[in-house]
This record gives sequence, structure tokens and C-alpha cells, in this order.
Amino acid sequence: MSGSKLNDTHWKHMILTFRKHPLHALLIACLFSQGVMAQNYLNNRAPLIEKPYIELPLGSIKPQGWLHEMLVRQKNGTTGQLDALYPAVMGSRNGWLGGDGDQWERGPYWIDGLLPLAYILDDQALKDKVQPWVEWAIASQQPDGYFGPDKDYDPEPGLQRNNARDWWPKMVVLKILQQYHSATGDERVIRLMTSYFKYQLTTLKEKPLGHWTFWAEFRSGDNLQAVYWLYNITGDAFLLDLAQLIHGQGKDFTTMFEQREVLSTIGSIHCVNLAQGIKEPVIYYQQRPDKRFIDAVKLGFRDIRKFNGQPQGMYGGDEALHGNIPTQGSELCSAVELMFSLEKMLEITGDVDFAEHLERVAFNALPTQVTDDFMHRQYFQQANQVQIQRRAYNFNINHGETDLVFGLLTGYPCCTANMHQGWPKFTQNLWYATADSGLAALVYSPSAVTAKVADGVDVSVVEETHYPFDESIRFSFRFPGGEEAATFPFHLRIPTWCAAAQIKINGRPWEGKTEAGNIVVVARTWRSGDRLELVLPMEVSTSRWHENSMAVERGPVVYALKIAERWEKKTIADDPARFGKEYYEVYPETPWNYGILDFTGKDTKDVFSVVKRKDIDLTYPWNPENAPVEIKVAGKRIPSWQLYNGMAGPLPHSSIIYGIQSTNEMPVEELTLIPYGATTLRISAFPVIVPY
Ligand SMILES: [Zn+2]
Repeated sequence: MSGSKLNDTHWKHMILTFRKHPLHALLIACLFSQGVMAQNYLNNRAPLIEKPYIELPLGSIKPQGWLHEMLVRQKNGTTGQLDALYPAVMGSRNGWLGGDGDQWERGPYWIDGLLPLAYILDDQALKDKVQPWVEWAIASQQPDGYFGPDKDYDPEPGLQRNNARDWWPKMVVLKILQQYHSATGDERVIRLMTSYFKYQLTTLKEKPLGHWTFWAEFRSGDNLQAVYWLYNITGDAFLLDLAQLIHGQGKDFTTMFEQREVLSTIGSIHCVNLAQGIKEPVIYYQQRPDKRFIDAVKLGFRDIRKFNGQPQGMYGGDEALHGNIPTQGSELCSAVELMFSLEKMLEITGDVDFAEHLERVAFNALPTQVTDDFMHRQYFQQANQVQIQRRAYNFNINHGETDLVFGLLTGYPCCTANMHQGWPKFTQNLWYATADSGLAALVYSPSAVTAKVADGVDVSVVEETHYPFDESIRFSFRFPGGEEAATFPFHLRIPTWCAAAQIKINGRPWEGKTEAGNIVVVARTWRSGDRLELVLPMEVSTSRWHENSMAVERGPVVYALKIAERWEKKTIADDPARFGKEYYEVYPETPWNYGILDFTGKDTKDVFSVVKRKDIDLTYPWNPENAPVEIKVAGKRIPSWQLYNGMAGPLPHSSIIYGIQSTNEMPVEELTLIPYGATTLRISAFPVIVPY
């Protein structure tokens, strides 16, 4: 029997709990295990610091339940057919297929989501669709190491035909090739990247990251992570020199966050650059493990929340940073890029804050910004979104007044190309190998994983749950190689919002501590058929936002006012080539101008009632009809709060002294809140009504 050289009872009660110092705890775990366990997956190579968690090969993790349904909808929706839906850019004229069309980021963006989708679903038709892009990228490499389109063309409406040699789009292709190698082991990727990075080391000295566009400077963390990835495989020392060069030429996010000026200033930074760039200090921390880099990023997240935060985990950024008013826009690209940044930072640090923020964006911001059939998306979403029209809002930018409506190309088409990476990469980051040769579930969703643990034993774990709505997550273990048992640590995140988590193993309570905001390690001999249940009781809690408004939360899900929706399909006559032929507006059919009655001094259990619906189909919970949980609370309409410029007018201040006078004569009503991700129209930042 593999991996169980240690005394079984010695392991059985070995319990490790640690708060945000996983490396330290893992060291203890290694001492306990007497160093018998070699790592099964490639960790960082010295002098880079050891990561607590290691990404598994693409295809090891399979979505189940609602998450599987989400990926299938992507396949049947735009992700699986963007070449046909958006042929001018994604068709054979794309520069990344050798054509004279779009030479820049959009083709690579699409493949960066389509490729992991293809391999996670193990779908041959999708793999066939991806392969020409991989083949062309590899074949395009020139003797000096350069790869990709290299020729600029004259402007053509709807296409980006210049800056072909820009460093930035290649960063996306590097991510694609890393994933392709992870799924297939194709050695051509290693050769291409080695040659390209030699080219970068030489050429960046005369043509730095910002030579063609400023995007590459802000997004240098994407380049940097690819350099470290290759270094771990080849150990080529020049890659560490290149990493220093890229870090030095990239935007200095560390100092930016420390100085606090940018994040507290409207219009100071592009919202997607912020979502991508925020990981750079943590990526670089692997080479120079100075706590300063981690501290700066944590401060950055606190300032994003303080000055620009919205309840769904995002921030006002439409496109420039735009404060915390809940009718400012949040771009879809920034949601999926922030998720990728959080996934990378979680793997490097094991910090539960990154896992929780990842869940908040994935379970709230992401599902609402794309239609149920994955055919139309919004460029911007609003946290308080009560009507969606083609009109000029007070965003930082205006694209033919189409920035809020649902369409394929409305607003700006970066999101049409980039949105596909969100759910596949989320799936890929549900599970990690651990530095102590175990397995970790740090972010939860229905799924199954097969991975090597202990000294190379394959284990399959099924995670059965309706999380994020379910308070129970059930893991079952078996060994596809036929072993009866193996001894390895199993890491689980206890969310910060959960004060009374319990773990049961084969129905019996586990004796270790399950303190909120920690990763617990259940180290024992796992036998085929073993079951572990993680029970995470979800209490309703509240948080405060713009104008002291209140958001209602339960577990990782934000709850928003349920508003009846009327969708209206419209055609675009003035510029269909740019914005697409059609789009959807959405109008409220029920009132939206509600506040929640002040409940100071009362227990939230007596204020909010939670209704778990049993009559619905849980395979797709992300619309009002299927919302699995409702929260009821007393509220009143606020007559003075009306539409302004087609959106919810300025948020009445939630004063604790004077109250909102216009509500005095209004009747108390029972409000129904549903998960934010299931709404299209909603109030998620509620005024609080204090009796006048
Ligand atoms: Zn975008």
C-alpha cells in the first residue's frame, strides 16, 4: 500500500490549523511526516520560494452540477461559436492565424477561455477549434525568437490592425500555451517560450515594455508569471534575469498601493489594468520574498473597497476608476481578470482572503453580466441596476450609448473576447496539489478531481454540493489505481463568514479546530469510500457601502432586491458593424425604490428570514425563476428616490439621526431578496430607513 508508511493512529489525530501562515504550518506537516513524501507536481524551483499550493494539470478537475451546466452553456453559446458569430475578428483573417485582420489582443483573449473549456470538458470539437491557433503561434516563431503577427496594416473599422509587435497580446498567448502544455505536455511550448524569452531579454533593453503601448507595462505580471512557470520547468538561469528586467519595466503597483493616491482618486487608472496589475507584486514576491509586496497588495484591496467598492466584489471602473457609487459601471473584463489574479495569488500565498474575494466575484458579479444562454453580455454592470437602456449614462466613457445594454458587441468588444476565461479558470482553481503532497479544496463548487497524493497514489475526490447556496459540502474518496488507502493531508478553507463550521468524517465529528478564516489540514489515512462532510452554517450578515447603504449577505452570496424584468429586443440601425445588429434593454415591472427598515439592537435572525426553495431546478440557479434561496426583510418604498437619467437616482443617505422623511406615511412591506448573480435588475446597496 502506497503512502502509508507512518503509523495510522499517529496520523489520525494529527490536526493542523493555521491562520494565514500556511508555509509555516506546512513545515510542521513535513516534520510530522518525517519527510517521506516527495512532491508529485512541480513546485517553484530555488531560489523562488516554495508555493503552498500547486495548480493541477488542466483536465484533472471536472465541473459537476451547476458549474458543469455553466460550462456547457458556454460551449453552446458564444465561447463555442465566436468564430461564426464574430467572423471579422475571430475568423481566418485574424493575425494570430496569419491573416491581415485583427493583429492584437482579441483573438488570443478568446482562445485563453476556449482552450481550458475544451480540455476541461474533454470536447474534441472544441479542441479542434483551438488547435490552429496553437499551431500558428508555434509556427510563427522567427530565428531571433520573436513570435506572433509582425506586420501593421491600415485602419479598418472594428479591427485592431496596428501594434502587431506589441508585447502585450503575447502575454495572453503565453497563458494559452502554458495551459496547452499543462493539458498535453507538448514540448514545442517549452522550446518556443525559451526562444521567445531570450528574444525578450535582448530586445526589451532597446524596446521596453511600454515601447508600443502602455498596456504591456500595466499587465507585466502576466508576462512575469509565464517566465517563472518556464523557469520551474527548465531551470534556465537567464529567466531570472529576464524576470528582474520585466519587473523593473512594469508599472510599480507596490509603490502605487503604498502611496494610496491612485486608488483614492477617480479616473486615475484603467479598471482592467488594475484587475490584472494587482497581482504583480505577489507574482514577483516569489523571486524576492519581501513581505512589503504582500502588504502593499492587501492595502490596495482595502483601498479599492474603501474608495471604489461595490457589494458584488468589484469596484466602480467605467473604464477609469470611478468611486463607489453603485450606479457606476464595472467592466466584465475586470471581473474575469480580477478572478485570474486572485487565483494566482491564492496559489502563491495560500491566503484565505484571496479565496474569499474570488468566490465573491465568481458567485455575484460574474453570473449576472452574461445572459443565461451565454449569447449576450454587458460591457458594464451596475450594483444598483434598475433599468437597462441604450442611452448616455455618467460613465467615464461612452460607446454609442450602448455600454449598459446586453449585446454581443455593445459597449466595447474586449469583453466579447475576454469573458470566456472566467468559469473555466475558476474550475481549474477549485483544487490544488499541496506542498506537503496532499490535496486542497480552497474554493468550493460541485466538482470532481483526480490527482496524485502521498508518494504518487492517484486519488479521486468527488465534491457534491449546491454551494454557494448549500451549507453542506460532501467529499467522497476513492483510489482509481485500486489501492485501499493512502495517507495524505487534505486542506480545507473555513470561510471567515462561518463561525460554526463542522467537519464530519464518515458521519463522525472530527476533533480538530475549525476556526473561521483558516485553512484546516485533515491529515490521516484515507480509505476508499471514506466521506468527509464540511458543514458551513450560513448566517445572514450585512455590510456598509456608499452613503452608508447596506448590503445583505449569506455565506459568499450577496442578496439583492428581486425586481420583475421585461426584456425588449432592439436593433441597431446606425452602426451594426461596430455594435452588432441587436441588443436587449431591460425594464422594471415592479417597484425598485425600497429601503430596509433600521433594525439596530435586534438580532439579524429576527430581522431576516431565509427561505430555501425546494420546488426549483438547481442545475441552473442563476436567474430569478431558479434562485434557490430567498431572504425576506421588512422595508418601505422611498418616494423621493426616483429614476435619474434612466437609472436609480442618487442614493439617499442612510442617516442614523434624521431618517428619510418621505417614508413616514409609506406602508411596511416584506421585501424579497434573491442572489445577486440571479438578478438582472436589482438593488444591492440599500438605503436604511430610520423612523423620523
Ligand atoms: Zn472588456
